[in-house]
Amino acid sequence: MVVQPRTTEQVSEIMHLANDNHIPVIPRGGGTGLCGSAVPIEGGIVMDMCRMDQIKDIRVQDLYVVVGAGVIYAKLNQALKPYKFSFPPTPGSADACTIGGMVALNASGMRAIKYGATRDYVLGLTVVMAYGDILRTGTRTLKNASGYQIDRLMCGSEGTLGVITEVTLKVAPLPGMRKMVLVAFDTLEKAGRCVSDIIAKPLIPSSLELMDRVSIDAVNKALGDPLPDCEALCMIEVDGEPEIVDVKLAQVETIARALNPIDIQSTGDIETMNRWNTSRKAIMTSLSALKPHMASVSLADDMAVPISKIPDAVARYQSIADKHGVIVATYGHASDGNLHTKMLVDPTDADNWRRGEKAVMEIFEATVELGGTVTGEHGVGMSKAPSFQMERITMLEAMAAIKRALDPNNILNPGKLMQWEGSILRNLRYPCDEYSERDVPPAQK
Ligand SMILES: Cc1cc2nc3c(=O)[nH]c(=O)nc-3n(C[C@H](O)[C@H](O)[C@H](O)COP(=O)(O)OP(=O)(O)OC[C@H]3O[C@@H](n4cnc5c(N)ncnc54)[C@H](O)[C@@H]3O)c2cc1C
Repeated sequence: MVVQPRTTEQVSEIMHLANDNHIPVIPRGGGTGLCGSAVPIEGGIVMDMCRMDQIKDIRVQDLYVVVGAGVIYAKLNQALKPYKFSFPPTPGSADACTIGGMVALNASGMRAIKYGATRDYVLGLTVVMAYGDILRTGTRTLKNASGYQIDRLMCGSEGTLGVITEVTLKVAPLPGMRKMVLVAFDTLEKAGRCVSDIIAKPLIPSSLELMDRVSIDAVNKALGDPLPDCEALCMIEVDGEPEIVDVKLAQVETIARALNPIDIQSTGDIETMNRWNTSRKAIMTSLSALKPHMASVSLADDMAVPISKIPDAVARYQSIADKHGVIVATYGHASDGNLHTKMLVDPTDADNWRRGEKAVMEIFEATVELGGTVTGEHGVGMSKAPSFQMERITMLEAMAAIKRALDPNNILNPGKLMQWEGSILRNLRYPCDEYSERDVPPAQK
């Protein structure tokens, strides 16, 4: 069943009913999550938050806004623009994801290096608990030391601890100016070095995106060659007041030139910057068009490592892909250590899926060995659950105890995070291997 409540009280009534009858409830925002976290694998009630989409209060003089959980990220920033403020995390899914979904996954994006993640902006939440009680956490003040920071616990809880209905967010002033530099390299390692050299300067850009050869080829094929033909690219943005922006831009160029790039272009022209940003955002969709019969899948898609380990990480991911004979594209918000890899698989080829699964697990193991995490921003859901359990082995019992205390009947988004068991190939939509044959409910076969 899908329900679309309009008020917190309606959510509370639904939760009462569901809890009394032990019916799973799966909160859902824009449905853009990439790990299957909003998929109702055990059936039940999908709680679609799209009608709780009011921007209730904009108070830039107090540096906060109050919004319904179903407000779309881009719509909030459109409303804040006339005040010269924004909610900065900037996920690639800005036009479709909701504020509630962003809190539930602690989403971020290309500007996290300078502006942080969603968690850094949450001042308070209204949350409906599994048993229907309405909890108001946090405050409308910038500082708050009053007791357990339950709003922090809800960030990244992936709909397993409560349904978020209202969010109070801190807002930040819009920068006066933005400029960008595009640097083309003949090796991926040099691009990785460029990232850590910029940060170590020290110089904090507002974003720094890295793209490898597979990603560049995919975008150039899909969009008609908007990017230089090279092995790797760094796309760097600096922002702030105009005089500072020009100084930073010159510093970035100097650092990049020291690495002997093939090409370097700088611009403050809005149209050119939009074209570069569009090319970066198009990677995910372009990859599926790169090879006939192959689709880009989000399995090991969101690792984060300490920034200085970026060159090691990109080299290790590539050698793992070669070892298992799979095509892997590496790109991402490299300045905060967040690397995305997308794997191209033939979805009807079981052997391809299995080789892919092995590569995915090895990529995650390499990430953890480098001191990183299996997810920087997309969350765990189903597809990262086994690797998350490997990374967080010492935390699982405490997490299970919190879950039991807040949701004793296990009705909120069951079967995710530490409750997931087995292969990531379970519940695939494609009937291509023993896992999906065994696990797909008869009605879906
Ligand atoms: C093209 C593309 C680009 C992307 N780029 C980025 C990026 O740059 N950065 C990034 O962080 N992510 C990115 N993502 C992933 C995703 O968009 C974000 O994680 C986003 O925050 C998910 O929000 P949503 O509203 O779509 O949530 P959904 O996918 O609907 O749900 C995600 C999870 O949150 C829970 N949830 C949703 N709403 C609530 C609520 N009100 N209360 C409690 N739980 C709730 C769900 O149960 C589920 O567990 C991208 C996705 C796509 C498709």
